[in-house]
Amino acid sequence: MAAEETAPDGEPQLLDAKPLRILIVGAGIGGLAAAIALRQRGHDVEIFEQSKLSQETGAAIHLASNCNGLLRRMGLHAENIGGVECTTVTEFFPQTAELKYRIDAKKMSDKLWTHPWQLAHRAHLHTALRDMAIGLEGRGKPAKLRLSSHVRAVDAATAAITLEDGSAFHGDLLVGADGVHSRTRASIPGGDKKPFGSGKSAFRFLIPTESLKADPNIAEYITPGTLTMWIDSDRRLVMYPCMNNTQMNFVCIHPSAESEAENSTDEGWQKAGSKARMLKIYQNFHTSCRSILEKAQEPKIWKLLDMEKMPGFIHERLAVIGDAAHPFLPHQGQGAGQAIEDAVSLAAVLPLGTPPDEIQERLQVYEQCRYERSHKIQEFTRTAGKDTAQLAAEGKKLDMNEYQIYNFCHDA
Ligand code: FAD
Repeated sequence: MAAEETAPDGEPQLLDAKPLRILIVGAGIGGLAAAIALRQRGHDVEIFEQSKLSQETGAAIHLASNCNGLLRRMGLHAENIGGVECTTVTEFFPQTAELKYRIDAKKMSDKLWTHPWQLAHRAHLHTALRDMAIGLEGRGKPAKLRLSSHVRAVDAATAAITLEDGSAFHGDLLVGADGVHSRTRASIPGGDKKPFGSGKSAFRFLIPTESLKADPNIAEYITPGTLTMWIDSDRRLVMYPCMNNTQMNFVCIHPSAESEAENSTDEGWQKAGSKARMLKIYQNFHTSCRSILEKAQEPKIWKLLDMEKMPGFIHERLAVIGDAAHPFLPHQGQGAGQAIEDAVSLAAVLPLGTPPDEIQERLQVYEQCRYERSHKIQEFTRTAGKDTAQLAAEGKKLDMNEYQIYNFCHDA
């Protein structure tokens, strides 16, 4: 038996335990979180990312209690990357601007949730995760990140990948973290699923908080730490702060157009949206909402994709995580959170010293931990995004408390 020593975090480590060689496809939120968690376990990690990571602009992202806690344990504190604690949630009637409800999220965070709910900019989160994955500081060996490395083929049996340029790599384990348009998931039996339009799209943009506060039509709706929603029957406007409350993030979810660009299958996150069309869609919203939309500069359009359930998340020496396993609609702000839960769970079942011939058995534990929970939250999310008429036809009622308690309270 190998001798034990205690690592700085108090976890026992086997002195002569052999690390696994782990290849990760995709350096998005899930892939980088997996690289950090697996590196901290002591494994050798190499990440293959198709892009140059120069497009990581995006908009803001929710780090709800469940995911914020995991990030903190990894050593990433959202408040250090401009994260804003969400302390209040308000909803207004979209035509009258009358207050529907106000929830004290800080009270829930103090009493019910284990960690605060943070709102961060995706690019800042991404940069922080990348630096932690490949940086010299921190536990374990820095992961190797290969950019401009599009993975063309995957062999789950041998944990091997082939890149577009023909170069091949193999390890002990392959992690498919290649997002909603994943290539790796097709290597899971029954996993040749394709994402499809959910019927909804979203305009997204940021506006400096100061310019909103300066407008008397808008100022009263801009309070630090407050997430505000204006929900009509089939369209909604959601706004919340990020970047130390200096920017407000807007997500305007509405029925997808039949013929417009937003209905294409384009995979980009930087597709320009039509401001004129956005103003038309929200023309019956209150003056304050319209004043906000008037201020939008170069809104982006994002087609909201859904996908049939995967039969499983693992096969042989391959595990898929994040959107590759379960693409998320944005209505509960759990896309990044569930990818991070997957990443941490995977690392939890693979301690340093795991013999390669035990990997498949351990991946089964990963799947058992994640399959039901991620799908339950995915289903909550779908319901939370439904139109009033759809909900009524299905005899469903939204219980936001149930959703948020389930989503937020569970530590992976
Ligand atoms: P992602 O974060 O999408 O990461 C997948 C990664 O895999 C990408 O970097 C992609 O380039 C890479 N990849 C894909 N195929 C291959 C391949 N064959 N070989 C190698 N690499 C591959 N969500 C929001 O809610 N709001 C946003 O503003 C937002 N902006 C985004 C901007 C970008 C540039 C990207 C890539 C994603 C964005 N998302 C956004 C999506 C969000 O990050 C994910 O839905 C969620 O965090 C789950 O993370 P993931 O790691 O599963 O997927």
